[in-house]
Amino acid sequence: MIDAIADKIVWLGHDGFRIETDPVIYFDPFQIGDNGPKADIILISHEHFDHCSPEDVAKIQKPDTVIVTEKKSALKLSGDVRDVLPNQTLNIAGVRIETVPSYNTDKDFHPQANNWLGFIVEVEGVRIYHTGDADFIPEMADINTDIALLPVSGTYVMDAPQAVKAALALNPKLAIPMHYGSIVGSEEDATAFRDALEGRIEVRILQKFQD
Ligand SMILES: [Zn+2]
Repeated sequence: MIDAIADKIVWLGHDGFRIETDPVIYFDPFQIGDNGPKADIILISHEHFDHCSPEDVAKIQKPDTVIVTEKKSALKLSGDVRDVLPNQTLNIAGVRIETVPSYNTDKDFHPQANNWLGFIVEVEGVRIYHTGDADFIPEMADINTDIALLPVSGTYVMDAPQAVKAALALNPKLAIPMHYGSIVGSEEDATAFRDALEGRIEVRILQKFQD
């Protein structure tokens, strides 16, 4: 079941993903193509331009698309926008969505006080955690997930060695690196992450997809 869902996860570059289930779910669409499937649910972690991109949302939004995000991002978007805080649970189109905190511990780009978001979605019984722009935060020790989407670039978020610690704390069945290849971070960060977890946690490096 986890492999079946993992095969439906498409990396759109940076922190953008599409989960090609029914409903179709997007995380942080940024610099996406024009021809992708429309979204049933869009989850936006925080207001930074590379996560909350109204022009990218416009490419995939339909009249009944539900957007779940924090209050600053909500102000930049229109339609059915649900403005939420960390530690909430929603059910949208049969998908359980849990919001969790997302923040930096040793830098100032993403203060905890902003109440920005990570998301855990549960589709077809499989839990997928998108951290947002976070460092390795203590809350991760209590997060239960099958698949973890983890930043590896450093600078604004955790770097690859920190992401390894986060992965070990989360102990998912599959980890997928993100937050590299466009704004900061390189493929080497992703491979360093994978190599450090070899024999402990399965890591899948996705090829960036452009519709
Ligand atoms: Zn950010």
